[in-house]
Amino acid sequence: MPRLFLIMGDQISRDLASLRSAIAGEDIIVMGELAEEAGYVRHHKQKLILIFSAMRHFAQSLRDEGFNVHYQQYDQDNGAANFEALLTNAVDAQRTDKAVQICMTRASEYRVLQWQETYQAQSGHDVTLFDDDRFLATKDDFTAWAAGKKQLRMEFFYREMRRKFNILLEGDKPVGGQWNYDADNRKPPKSGLDIPPRTRFAPDEITSDIIALVEAYFDDHFGTSASFEMAVTRDQALHVLDSFITERLCHFGTYQDAMMVDEPFMYHAHIGAYLNIGLLTPLEVIKRVEQAYYENNAPLNATEGFIRQILGWREYIRGIYWHFMPDYGAMNALDAHRSLPSFFWDGNTEMTCLSQSINQTIDYAYAHHIQRLMIIGNFSLLAGLSPKEVNEWFLIVYADAFEWVEMPNVSGMVLFADDGIVASKPYAAGGNYIDKMSNYCKDCHYNVKDKTGDTACPFNYLYWDFLYRHEQTLRGNPRLGMIYRTADKMSDEKKRAIKASSEKFLTALNCSGYSA
Ligand code: SF4
Repeated sequence: MPRLFLIMGDQISRDLASLRSAIAGEDIIVMGELAEEAGYVRHHKQKLILIFSAMRHFAQSLRDEGFNVHYQQYDQDNGAANFEALLTNAVDAQRTDKAVQICMTRASEYRVLQWQETYQAQSGHDVTLFDDDRFLATKDDFTAWAAGKKQLRMEFFYREMRRKFNILLEGDKPVGGQWNYDADNRKPPKSGLDIPPRTRFAPDEITSDIIALVEAYFDDHFGTSASFEMAVTRDQALHVLDSFITERLCHFGTYQDAMMVDEPFMYHAHIGAYLNIGLLTPLEVIKRVEQAYYENNAPLNATEGFIRQILGWREYIRGIYWHFMPDYGAMNALDAHRSLPSFFWDGNTEMTCLSQSINQTIDYAYAHHIQRLMIIGNFSLLAGLSPKEVNEWFLIVYADAFEWVEMPNVSGMVLFADDGIVASKPYAAGGNYIDKMSNYCKDCHYNVKDKTGDTACPFNYLYWDFLYRHEQTLRGNPRLGMIYRTADKMSDEKKRAIKASSEKFLTALNCSGYSA
């Protein structure tokens, strides 16, 4: 029976579960640049370039191995628009009367998995689905861990994962005596930091063709393609990882929350997109970073902090997604409905922190986790922006954003829309936090020291206004007790000034909704 292996744009791994059983010279690989996947939201141009270019390079490497690859390049008018149509074309191209077998690895996103699970009945083909074992915790592992727990906190899940994979352990104890070195990882930036340039790759012929294609057909999508210099092959992604370990890891922990004007990349690894499309696998990344620690090339706070992001946070977030879908996406615990301000699309705001974070997102499809959480996310939370719109924005603008990872981060960690499933409290902060962790405030139009009024930092009054607005929901949260005791001590006059400044600011926002 002829076998066709469908490979999706985030399954670009030679070690993919389904591909491991494919036989060169016999089986057909099916890949396609699909209009529906590229266009269901207006993905950042660089995200499309990354995925399409990585797919074409991967297809070529499979051909070099001897595989017959049925590959559909993007074709707005004549190509198959979705996975089903692509498979229909690929089966027809075999010109066979025999029954065919379709092999797929389970999709990372709910909507695509729904289609996969009904495809056999719809198509009449024999369909085999493989579990995606690139992830380190299965859905059943997470369900078993979550069973009977009142709170699903990442920290405890992470400890189990450390034990399961024997990472940074001495016997069954954590290396250094602590599971978590986050307290050492919150240093503000200082002048004179020598930040290495990010590892870049000039576009080759394949990538240049894709850039032209994206400019021709996706001109109305978010972002610019001009600065595309990302890795598009596994070898290049490994090079990015190696450069991170040798050049940045030593300072990654200490400055992982720090932000500086015109320094979008800091000491971060910039490998999230490569992990999420399959050019790198999580366990190889974790093992290489752990090895750097054991070879005395990285301090423990950096090593542990980095490994926690991959082995803990990434796996935990995926577990949350599958545990609570499909209801999770509709949650809106704080009843937030404001549309996105226009500056989310063009970066045009006098708030330096937001202007910096959004403009670098436009330029690179990248911002680091504190820019996402404590600048853009914090503003979204305080301003009461609609979870549906904020989720869509994050899905559009970041090269690493796929729904399984984006949605729990945004609805859970950023917006508290899931009523505390992920976060023990809303991650709200005033201008003081941003001033402490960045040099953004120095040249800002607004004054971070002022609490109310036209020139005051908007984060300052929006923070208290948020707490007053949601008092009924949040006052009972034990982690917010002290803050509400401070709020209680404010004079009525101060409270009125906070409310007036917030209303004036929010009314003046141009919240026109979607406009990439
Ligand atoms: Fe952002 Fe306020 Fe600082 Fe301006 S003053 S950069 S708005 S935190």
